[in-house]
Amino acid sequence: MQKRLLMPEQLPQDRIKNFNEVALGYTEEQVVAEAKRCLQCPKAPCMAGCPVEIDIPGFIKFVAERKFSEALNILRKKNNLPAICGRVCPQETQCEAVCTLKKKDEPIAIGRLERFTADWGRKEKSKGQKAKGKRQRAKGKGQVAVIGAGPAGLTCAGDLAKMGWKVTVFESLHAPGGVLRYGIPEFRMPRDVLDYEIEYVKNLGVEIKTNIIVGKTVTVEELFGAGYKAVFISTGAGFPYFLGILGENYNGVYSANEFLTRANLMKAYKFPEYDTPLQIGKKVAVVGAGNVAMDSARVARRLGAKKVCIIYRRSRSEMPARAEEIHHAEEEGIELDLLTLPVEIMGDDKGWVKHVKCLKMKLGEPDDSGRRRPIPIDGSEYLVDIDTMVIAIGQGPNPLLLSMTPGLKLTRKGNIVADDITGETSLEQVYAGGDIVTGAATVIEAMGAGKRVARAINEKHG
Ligand code: FAD
Ligand code: SF4
Repeated sequence: MQKRLLMPEQLPQDRIKNFNEVALGYTEEQVVAEAKRCLQCPKAPCMAGCPVEIDIPGFIKFVAERKFSEALNILRKKNNLPAICGRVCPQETQCEAVCTLKKKDEPIAIGRLERFTADWGRKEKSKGQKAKGKRQRAKGKGQVAVIGAGPAGLTCAGDLAKMGWKVTVFESLHAPGGVLRYGIPEFRMPRDVLDYEIEYVKNLGVEIKTNIIVGKTVTVEELFGAGYKAVFISTGAGFPYFLGILGENYNGVYSANEFLTRANLMKAYKFPEYDTPLQIGKKVAVVGAGNVAMDSARVARRLGAKKVCIIYRRSRSEMPARAEEIHHAEEEGIELDLLTLPVEIMGDDKGWVKHVKCLKMKLGEPDDSGRRRPIPIDGSEYLVDIDTMVIAIGQGPNPLLLSMTPGLKLTRKGNIVADDITGETSLEQVYAGGDIVTGAATVIEAMGAGKRVARAINEKHG
């Protein structure tokens, strides 16, 4: 049988000098050849691995027949953001993990086929063909307010519009997209792709109001007063966690959230053409090993850092980032300092970071997370010289809106308590989903939650 096809990419030595997309996408010949590997399994286990329930063999069959428009229609039925999912979903742990072919060979590259099909649709539109995201006529069901324009909010809003609701999304930043815009860099998520997908949702009739902080500019109670029948809270997990060690307030120490927002949303890499600077030195340490850490390290490399290392207290097999991101980071010369724990950040008398003191670790018995617990090795302390440090060890919910919404039940960690299926919260007519409920998770899980809540709101209030 033909092997899974590799996707063309920019070479590492070229791409570390630019912010253009790394993966270049399949050609038409490649996408058809890859789609023809699909066995068209009658039970399609891949579908159970997709949180937004795409008819995977259905769209792949059309791709194999070069019927890209029909393939796109199948994708769009369930997924308002296919060009995004095709790029950033961790397919290796979702649909591709359960592909029948994986038992004997490599699974079908489902994400790459999805990406090609969505990109094909965008390119056809630029040739003057009609976009499929047609405005849906509001069917008098009433208005729903969605708070937060990330993947959960955009999915819920798009699905509700398709069901005939009038939907307004309120977003605190000056541009919609959530993490897709302020967190994930251009070289993984080109902004023209993101803008097109958001335009599709707007074309369904969804209104997006930016620069509105719900909880400050307007409260949830006031939204109900303005006539909304239901409110969906999808404000994500954008509040950075810190290490809690000495020296975190030295100049040159950033949270990944600030570092990436400066680079991506405020376009610091185009400074002084854009106003926001991002000062980084030659030696950068990034603490953490998830996608956020990989993105921070790769941005630092592109901003001119000569030496970038990832500091992580567990081993390679526990690294939570997508396999492809780790592979790309290593190709770009990012070093992995595994089984290493930062214990103190040290600076100079002018207040700038200079070193990080680390301890070597070994793995013990599994902890509550099921992963082997890292244990410090006595006497293993050493200093690493650095000019910049980025802390990427996780994010939690921003408490602002939550503290201004009395009666909303929260977990110990400050996430909203919501029903797994319907997203119902402790407050009547208030729903929640995405990272604000689960804690930092994935784009597709947030989209799955948005989808389920749209269905629940329609059933209960429609
Ligand atoms: P978000 O995307 O966080 O969107 C929430 C939105 O709500 C934001 O736009 C925010 O500005 C807005 N908001 C917040 N408070 C208010 C308020 N009071 N009023 C109005 N608006 C408000 N996942 C993957 O699947 N693959 C990846 O490769 C990947 N890489 C990542 C890289 C980075 C750097 C980060 C940070 C995350 C990454 N993730 C990845 C995780 C993924 O992006 C998130 O799980 C997902 O975006 C969550 O979606 P959401 O809609 O719940 O929240
Ligand atoms: Fe095709 Fe794999 Fe899905 Fe079977 S499991 S239908 S081979 S993608």
